[in-house]
Amino acid sequence: MRVGVGFDVHRFTVGRKLYLGGVEIPFDKGLLGHSDGDVLLHAVSDALLGAAGLPDIGHLFPDTDPEIYGISSTEIIRRVQMMISETGFSITNLDAVVICERPKIAKYREIIKSSIASLLKVDEFRVSVKGKSAEGLGVLGSEEAVACFAVALLEEMN
Ligand code: MG
Repeated sequence: MRVGVGFDVHRFTVGRKLYLGGVEIPFDKGLLGHSDGDVLLHAVSDALLGAAGLPDIGHLFPDTDPEIYGISSTEIIRRVQMMISETGFSITNLDAVVICERPKIAKYREIIKSSIASLLKVDEFRVSVKGKSAEGLGVLGSEEAVACFAVALLEEMN
């Protein structure tokens, strides 16, 4: 068994769509980034890569690379899923917490779980996602940014 941890934070900006876990969430702001800014898929990707002992997404998909400008994070995590499986691991489970004041994640929890499970080609019971408010504190509490923590457990396949 191998465990990995991932963290990411992205700033809100107007004029962009909001994507969380590969799901477009109706909201008045989106997340800034070289990709679509999907903070949840980025944290999950880093947790998986970390558990497999592979380089992080900042290294694999650098924001200085014009070739991947505007890349969908669903494409990033699909590539990560392939790397994980090529390295000989299967995903036992992953858990993530999205920290933001709004939107409320609870409403989208099931659809986000199902999106991540489908992107990673695993059963939904292996994926857990929850939202946490920042209690109005700091840049997360004032709706300037969204942060996400993720943990992944991999099992070596024989
Ligand atoms: Mg990111």
